[in-house]
Amino acid sequence: MKSKAGKPSLLPGDLVEQLEDLARRASKAVEESSDAEELAAKRTEVLGRGGALNQALQHLAGLPQPERGDVGRRANEVKSNLEKAFAARRDALEAGLLEVQLRQEALDVTLPGRPLARGRIHPANQTLRQIIRIWAEMGFQVYRSREVETDELNFGLLNMPPYHPARDQWDTFYTTNPQLLLRTHTSPGQIHVMRERAPQPIRVILPGMCYRYEQVTARSEIQFNQVEGLAVGRRITFADLKGTLTAFARRLFGAEVATRFRAAHFPFTEPSAEMDVECFVCGGVGCAVCKGTGWLEVLGSGMVHPTVLSNGGYDPAQFSGYAFGMGPERLTMLKHRIEDIRYFWGNDLRFLEQF
Ligand SMILES: [Zn+2]
Repeated sequence: MKSKAGKPSLLPGDLVEQLEDLARRASKAVEESSDAEELAAKRTEVLGRGGALNQALQHLAGLPQPERGDVGRRANEVKSNLEKAFAARRDALEAGLLEVQLRQEALDVTLPGRPLARGRIHPANQTLRQIIRIWAEMGFQVYRSREVETDELNFGLLNMPPYHPARDQWDTFYTTNPQLLLRTHTSPGQIHVMRERAPQPIRVILPGMCYRYEQVTARSEIQFNQVEGLAVGRRITFADLKGTLTAFARRLFGAEVATRFRAAHFPFTEPSAEMDVECFVCGGVGCAVCKGTGWLEVLGSGMVHPTVLSNGGYDPAQFSGYAFGMGPERLTMLKHRIEDIRYFWGNDLRFLEQF
């Protein structure tokens, strides 16, 4: 019997038999596939556009109703089951591949990790922070001011007029404008803070970078940190200066440290004194660090000069104050027995990594 379309006509039972047979053979092929490529090729043979299933279904059109519906439903079931079987087998093959890969490229979790390179605080800044912390605990605020200053603020208002011999002590970086320079000390900040706050009392420290046009040697650099302090108010005396600076030295160098004050001269303070602490290397016996004296100079200080007070807006008849200044690099050198100040800005990691 031939259909109108010229295709060989099958009985419904034959077609169902053919579908079942196809399903059995395809399932077996799925089971037997051992890699993903082989499986994909078999899937195309069975489920592809010109595959075995579609070929079988060409006969569907030749079937009489209602068998056509029943066989069609069965054909869809077979197709859907086979698609699931192929997908499951593909997943299983891929999982197996992953497992093999994991076994072959096993991670050794006992291997120590690579250490991360971490930065650290520069030794001069470590000391600076320590100094700032101590003064902050004693009620001193941090006051920062500019590094480019006018000649007047850096010298003139600090009791160093143009003819003053003290101006020879500082060789200065001037800009193309002769009235503008890189500050040689943090002291111009004293004028700034006084003019800002007069007639209120002041307790501040003024940390920051200073610049001097000097020959760079083991003892001197063209840039360095300074921490200056200033207290202004009524009835502030030299006893306050000594007591406060001694308290500071005890916090920085230890409660047992001995201190002494030596008369000194600075243009912006009167009277002036330098403070020494007992050499912490030799305990005051005398060594190379203290050059045999048993003492180390740590800061300069004095009562604020009346001219500086009035330049800052305070009446020297009613107000008094004290000021002091120290160098964090110098203190760091003493503390760690560093013999060359050039290490601080040399960017040599062999030096910096020791702190
Ligand atoms: Zn010593």
